[in-house]
Amino acid sequence: GVPLLEVRDLHVEFHTREGAAHAVNGVSYTVDAGETLAVLGESGSGKSVTAQTIMGILDMPPGRITGGEILFRGQDMLKMSEAQRRKIRGNQIAMIFQDALSSLNPVLSVGFQLGEMFRVHRGASRKEAKAKAIELMDRVRIPAAKERVNDYPHQFSGGMRQRIMIAMALALEPDVIIADEPTTALDVTVQAQVMDLLAELQREHNMGLILITHDLGVVADVADKIAVMYAGRIVENAPVHELYKRPAHPYAKGLLESIPRLDLKGQELYAISGLPPSLTAVPSGCAFNPRCPLATDQCRTEVPPLVQVTEQDGTPITGRSSACHLWKETIHG
Ligand code: SF4
Ligand code: MG
Repeated sequence: GVPLLEVRDLHVEFHTREGAAHAVNGVSYTVDAGETLAVLGESGSGKSVTAQTIMGILDMPPGRITGGEILFRGQDMLKMSEAQRRKIRGNQIAMIFQDALSSLNPVLSVGFQLGEMFRVHRGASRKEAKAKAIELMDRVRIPAAKERVNDYPHQFSGGMRQRIMIAMALALEPDVIIADEPTTALDVTVQAQVMDLLAELQREHNMGLILITHDLGVVADVADKIAVMYAGRIVENAPVHELYKRPAHPYAKGLLESIPRLDLKGQELYAISGLPPSLTAVPSGCAFNPRCPLATDQCRTEVPPLVQVTEQDGTPITGRSSACHLWKETIHG
């Protein structure tokens, strides 16, 4: 059937003082109901810009969509009227940001802010809105919700505030949640709790979840599939367990090898050398070539297309693709 949300060959450009930056360069992905897609990449890879484009908050001036489609249940949002688009973005797609403190209003109680969703979008009374706010706080397991509904954002811990952000996103029962680094500001134990909660709610409500992160460690347990981004492109797609077992792109392989592992305590961590390129000066050929241990002359001149990954005998592997001239060597060694 038609995917719940599909980004198809999306291109976004920025004009900067150093020239044009192709922040999103032909990105395609899908997410279905009940599915979690992790979009992984370093800062500047285009992962957040893609999400902001879906949400219509591409306000870093002057960002411009120069091509592609964003299909919600098969309908291209970029071709809809502004009113239709706003309706989908308000009701069917919700976003969670990294920094709850700057997303919440400091002078309004969290109960008021949660309740406002129901007053504005559902015409609820004050009393109904407050009851709904408490219900949502319960659902994201904020202890003593009834007593805390009138508290202000600063009276909650970072982890609890992030739960409030999740509650906000859930309020109108969206079909898709996009979470951009939702746990990055939290410490490690709280990160895991918030991620588990998000995953649980996603399953319970059968939502599509797009989880944007730079940290491969946080998505292992919750994602179904991963899209790895580099310099505005997707360089590898894979079901999550497949990527962990046998990456088919040297960049993904490097990211995997740089996750601290308890079983390898004491061993030196592999780190990818160098920095991601500036989007106004992307290297020719494969954008990863200056950092890639396998780079050849071909890598420095030809952009590797995203191709189907196969077993050694040529059988296609479902959901797997790589944009590397040497994907065969990388996956099959
Ligand atoms: Fe490395 Fe070449 Fe593959 Fe790019 S195309 S990741 S430079 S081997
Ligand atoms: Mg970002």
